Amino acid sequence: MRPLSCPMCGERTLWKEVDREKKGFSVGKSALGGIIFGPMGLIAGGLGKTRVYYCCGKCGFEHEYKA
Ligand SMILES: [Zn+2]
Repeated sequence: MRPLSCPMCGERTLWKEVDREKKGFSVGKSALGGIIFGPMGLIAGGLGKTRVYYCCGKCGFEHEYKA
């Protein structure tokens, strides 16, 4: 489930869905998400075929979510 605001800093305006393909997928950021969210984060990142990628323009937090 996608949060309506950045889970790190609570920013709503700058917490936006971005085009993962255009932005380029970062393995490092994915691993970081796994660390932050634990096994659930890795499952969400590895199994979902339809995913959305969110990036916070305020604190820089990025994460993938199931669409
Ligand atoms: Zn943020």
